[in-house]
Amino acid sequence: MATVRDILQEALHRLPGLDARREAALLLRHALGVSEAWLIAHADDQVDADRADAFRGLIARRVHGEPVAYLTGTRGFHDIELRVAPGVLIPRSETELLVELVLQRTPADADCYVADLGTGSGAIALAIAHARPRVCVVATDTSGAALDIARDNAARLRIDNVEFRQGNWCAGLPDGHFDVIVSNPPYIAEGDPHLHEGDLRFEPPVALASGTDGLDAIRTLVADAGAHLRDGGWLLLEHGFEQGLAVRELLAAHGYGDVFTKRDLEGRDRVSGGRFSQQGVRAPSKASRAP
Ligand code: GLN
Repeated sequence: MATVRDILQEALHRLPGLDARREAALLLRHALGVSEAWLIAHADDQVDADRADAFRGLIARRVHGEPVAYLTGTRGFHDIELRVAPGVLIPRSETELLVELVLQRTPADADCYVADLGTGSGAIALAIAHARPRVCVVATDTSGAALDIARDNAARLRIDNVEFRQGNWCAGLPDGHFDVIVSNPPYIAEGDPHLHEGDLRFEPPVALASGTDGLDAIRTLVADAGAHLRDGGWLLLEHGFEQGLAVRELLAAHGYGDVFTKRDLEGRDRVSGGRFSQQGVRAPSKASRAP
């Protein structure tokens, strides 16, 4: 019989990529149902044949390209652990920036209203609701399958300040209500070769790609969200690293002030946002009447 160390070594020879050691450990923990600390302390333990085979099966699927998060069915995001499955986008660490920017705008000691549009696994909505128990979050998605996963995540995490609704972006949201509207929409250009690489090959295309320049969903969100924000409320959007200028221009053209772009940990433009004001909406039309 092989030891924990043996089967990990065997997997490292088969897995490509710089992250092979971390991935092999995650998959072995999943196959054995053990913690990271257990693996370290039990490297010389024998692994029974069935479990070793289950682990080798996971490694084979990983070699074929399946994302680790779909193989283990879980993903850590911000301060919570989420269940994920092929019907939802795998939460990314760069999206934690979006959560932090929402938390900066929602005081812990006040009632606030936040909407998360295109919630998928519920990652953003649930991370915010977990960190801010007094915030009421509405999370929407068009996909009933995604909402099933998101609701299951809320139940497992015992988070009860998120209301999930099926619908497209802002459809059905109350007017003039939210302090913050947030979204990580699809923003990759259709036809971008990255869609045929890595984890993206296995994720739902509707959660990734949006029109020929990747900005279709963002254009809809910027145009529609203002009606549902209170005066001075924030719209915060994740986008591609080359889309910062385009998103700032869209926000400015739709009545948003204090428009900004924030970079992710890798130094790439990742989130843009602005504050909605009714005055801002009127200003451009006055300007356009000027000679
Ligand atoms: N940031 C993701 C990627 O490029 C895409 C996520 C999205 O489209 N919202 O892998």
